[in-house]
Amino acid sequence: MKAVVFNQHGGPEVLQYTEVPDPEIAANEVLVRVRACALNHLDLWVRRGLPGVRIPLPHIPGSDIAGEVARVGNLVSDVRVGERVLLSPGLSCGHCQACSSGAENRCRKYTLFGYGVDGGCAEYVKSPIANIIPIPPEMKFEEAAAIPVVFLTAWHMLITRAQLQPGEDVLVLAAGSGVGSVAIQIAKLTGARVIATAGSDAKLVKARELGADDLINHSKQDIAEEAKRLTGKRGVDVVIEHVGEATWEKSVLSLAQNGRLVTCGATTGYNGKFDLRYLFSRNLSLLGSFMGSRAELYTVLKLVIEKKLHPVIDRVMPLAECAKAHVLLENREQFGKIVLKV
Ligand SMILES: [Zn+2]
Repeated sequence: MKAVVFNQHGGPEVLQYTEVPDPEIAANEVLVRVRACALNHLDLWVRRGLPGVRIPLPHIPGSDIAGEVARVGNLVSDVRVGERVLLSPGLSCGHCQACSSGAENRCRKYTLFGYGVDGGCAEYVKSPIANIIPIPPEMKFEEAAAIPVVFLTAWHMLITRAQLQPGEDVLVLAAGSGVGSVAIQIAKLTGARVIATAGSDAKLVKARELGADDLINHSKQDIAEEAKRLTGKRGVDVVIEHVGEATWEKSVLSLAQNGRLVTCGATTGYNGKFDLRYLFSRNLSLLGSFMGSRAELYTVLKLVIEKKLHPVIDRVMPLAECAKAHVLLENREQFGKIVLKV
């Protein structure tokens, strides 16, 4: 099959579009003919290499996958060949305490397609049956692939971790990112007021179209000062962080009494610093969030099917241009998802 593979960590140039052997499925697995695979910031980290994490090499990246069932193992009975599906991105042991309580993302063996195992930047990918989720006929593969990682992440952050309430004020950083563009929509659906930031006026216009009530241009304005000004000096109830070092201190300063900062990433660096006095004197909560459960993915998928939430696709490119897509994402030239068509 054709696939994007890298044999060593490095820049976009390590990605090779080449011929590799088809995956072999076990009796309890499903072979999926990939039709679309969306990129995430995770793809960039995996390609560059992460300290303390061993990525199997050679490696096929890609965590957000949609396609058709091509073949099923002998023990698989509930999935039909030809069925249109998306893949739940998280893989876990399936029988530990976390998995048994529906919190697979807290499983010690938790990993993702394109991370601990081969992903969807290929014509075929193998999957456990548990990860196969049917999609309706009217949903395009490109739309389906734009859903899993960012919708699951944003839902888990806002609803499960921060427990966002109607009427609260939410600050969404980097509205043009995959998580940002979805977090705006989920917060609005909850009945919250959304203040969104972006680094360009063009991206702020798009954030407004997604429902953001107020906007901050973080290349020209101070995030914390603006957040305070827009809330009558009170501060926001929830901050959606994934930028990391560059914004962390301002994010903490933007919080109101009892505010919750929830983070799912650190794209600009790991070393967040802040004044601890704010943490205790304002009764703040700092929350980490990593992916979410399959049950939550079913919930967001239902909301997309009901057209209450919408995948935000910046552009669709051929799989052969995966390296070019990595450069676009690295330079933050996109608004929403870049999807590779396979
Ligand atoms: Zn487990």
